[in-house]
Amino acid sequence: MGTSTASKLNIAIVGAGPAGCMAAAQLAPAGHRVLLFERQGGAWEKPCGGGITSKGIRRYPFLLDAMTEKKSIRHIELLDHAGRRLKIPLQMPLYVYSRRALNELMLKRALHAGAELVTAHVKSLDRMNSAKDASLKADARNAPWALRTSEKAFEADFVIVANGAKSSLAESLAHNFSTGDYSSAMGYHLHLKEDFIRIQFLKQFKGYIWTFPRADHVSLGICSKLSEHTAGELKEQLHSFAQETYGISIGPDDYFYSALIPTPELETMQRLRIAGSDWALIGDAAGLVDPITGEGIYFALRSGELLADALLAGHVEHYPDEVREDFGRNHQRAAQLMPMFYTSRFWGEEFTTRMIQFGRASRTLHAILRELFEEQDYIHLKRHLQRQMLRSLAEAIFGLKPRFSPQ
Ligand SMILES: Cc1cc2nc3c(=O)[nH]c(=O)nc-3n(C[C@H](O)[C@H](O)[C@H](O)COP(=O)(O)OP(=O)(O)OC[C@H]3O[C@@H](n4cnc5c(N)ncnc54)[C@H](O)[C@@H]3O)c2cc1C
Repeated sequence: MGTSTASKLNIAIVGAGPAGCMAAAQLAPAGHRVLLFERQGGAWEKPCGGGITSKGIRRYPFLLDAMTEKKSIRHIELLDHAGRRLKIPLQMPLYVYSRRALNELMLKRALHAGAELVTAHVKSLDRMNSAKDASLKADARNAPWALRTSEKAFEADFVIVANGAKSSLAESLAHNFSTGDYSSAMGYHLHLKEDFIRIQFLKQFKGYIWTFPRADHVSLGICSKLSEHTAGELKEQLHSFAQETYGISIGPDDYFYSALIPTPELETMQRLRIAGSDWALIGDAAGLVDPITGEGIYFALRSGELLADALLAGHVEHYPDEVREDFGRNHQRAAQLMPMFYTSRFWGEEFTTRMIQFGRASRTLHAILRELFEEQDYIHLKRHLQRQMLRSLAEAIFGLKPRFSPQ
């Protein structure tokens, strides 16, 4: 499509989450007509931990907007399956948002930039004057898009699918994820006061339990690969964590949330198509989530921005390469490392247990772990971690003292 800055387009964005709102806020000021479709009608409490690391805050300082409720966190405590702990101070704080507050901030920016909100559930994407969408995958691109809602159809020159995980619209355009490409996540809002994040690793478990303190409650949650545990098993883990950590029983009145997180396998990432000549996928709809941590807000924002930049430059075809260069290669590395991180063993123990144990004894390893939480650079992680863990192991064997006092 001739998407030069000179030709003004009718752009339809499906989904007013972080990804859709970011794209809308960048595109509307350039004079394009941007319709932002949201089935919830506005900001809502999307099931999510709501944590954004310093990397996200640095790139998007508007997230620190004084009116938006959030909690600043300066420590993360890692626990292994047996409850052994390592507390890591962060150099730059991580912020935890309620998703209603974050979505409201993002939506306000988009509307202020000139996007128009349409409260509607987009049911399908067709071509104008075509009966069905059967030929979409072949990129049959000869007519504008028709976005069908239960009320009517809206016409668009360019469509951006930003409607989150398990998007049937994304599937109709580009990909089919399988069960192995998702993680299941669930949790509770508990009325507790806490000032630091806890992350607990479990035995032979591809995921973790978290507690994210928010302004007026703690968001407790768990995630694991979808195919590997039932919802009942995950709930059981959460209930015993709450009992052991806080001495409380989760009851029927505690707010419960659950949702899927796309955590694509490496092969899926490698074959994923995220744009055509007049369409693109961003955020969760494109599977752009860190497969080890499940962090997706930053990548939703960044992919929305990268797509808008490419569109405004008249080169939408550059968007997939921009994503790959910016964070896609790092996600591919994370997908490769995921089994090592969660289920491999090192010197007769779980890798995560050794990481915590040696992190207490080695200042360098401690710093690597802090950096992992702040930057998530997986490209160099394996080499750094293994080298430091081997060094710590040698220290332990030869009876050397820890080089600093752990927290
Ligand atoms: C339990 C859980 C915990 C998480 N914790 C964190 C965390 O702490 N930090 C982090 O960075 N990430 C976290 N994530 C991931 C994060 O929530 C997502 O990566 C992020 O919200 C993706 O943003 P998005 O804009 O792509 O999609 P979403 O935020 O899902 O937004 C999509 C929007 O589209 C709307 N929509 C859907 N279908 C339609 C339709 N057909 N028509 C109109 N509107 C539609 C939805 O209502 C929604 O508002 C977590 C995920 C889960 C499930």
